Amino acid sequence: MKVIYSVIAPIYNEIDNISSLVSRVKEVMNSSGESWELILVDDGSTDGSTEKIRELAQNDKTVRPVIFARNFGHQVAITAGWDYARGDAIVIIDADLQDPPEIILELSKKWKEGYEVVYAVRGEREGESWFKKFTAAMFYRLIHWITDVEIPVDTGDFRLMDRKVVNVLKQMKERHRFPRGMSAWVGFKQIGVEYKRAARTAGVTKYPFSKMLKLALNAITGFSYFPLQMATYFGFFSAGLSVLAIPVVIYMRIMGSGAFTGQATTLIAVLFFGGVQLISLGVLGEYIGRLYDEAKGRPLYVVREAPED
Ligand code: UDP
Ligand code: MG
Repeated sequence: MKVIYSVIAPIYNEIDNISSLVSRVKEVMNSSGESWELILVDDGSTDGSTEKIRELAQNDKTVRPVIFARNFGHQVAITAGWDYARGDAIVIIDADLQDPPEIILELSKKWKEGYEVVYAVRGEREGESWFKKFTAAMFYRLIHWITDVEIPVDTGDFRLMDRKVVNVLKQMKERHRFPRGMSAWVGFKQIGVEYKRAARTAGVTKYPFSKMLKLALNAITGFSYFPLQMATYFGFFSAGLSVLAIPVVIYMRIMGSGAFTGQATTLIAVLFFGGVQLISLGVLGEYIGRLYDEAKGRPLYVVREAPED
């Protein structure tokens, strides 16, 4: 049977959310009157989510499980979903029901109007700390500012994409992934639909600050050279400044001024430029480490169980 919609949900320890996710997606997708499948990607859960997914898939052929051998991360789980999806329209949704499945119908309306990427924009966000909201808002704006790709702000991974787009994404093999940037990079006709992001139905966030930081680094390094160029800009700036300062200091010395004497001045300058150099090396290291990961060419994920059909 031809599948029209593939809904992909990455799952990492979401045992209390899975049943309601499946029943809500089912209700919404059945009301669309078209064929669909739900791909549940188990990203190395340890709380029994895996067994739950197997059980649901056994009783219901619209549920197709992809079970990872360990935790590979949210972005990689989404990628596996793309690889297994058979539909003409591919939807990514969070398993914790923060993205209401009912919105899929609105996304699909735009798809039928001819848009190939329909992303859901977070208008309001419920049940999240001010810290999360603030850092997220800063992150989206920073990415928007320093990257060359038009990545929409306040937009997560919740989106519908046409088969054409996903076929291109499947060719993008980068290891450190930022799916929302990748789907913007592709081009095609894109549009946003605003929605209210709900609170989690159960469980806690799987995105502590450290993971958010990692994602931000992937987004920045994946879509911009700006951090590398910063060393160049700063080098030119400080070299220019010292060229201007040299005659000033010489003149002041001739005039008998005591300014800029002593160790403190030297020490501050050495420490400051030492710090700047180490930071620049660290930035280089971020890019080189990523290059090294690409060079190794390991598979992106390891699957323990793939869907039967
Ligand atoms: N997730 C995943 N692997 C991970 C972390 C998260 O598959 O290593 C899934 C998680 O189960 C959820 C989605 O990614 O379906 C979004 O995660 P979460 O809700 O914790 O992030 P938040 O909404 O707090 O940003
Ligand atoms: Mg969530």
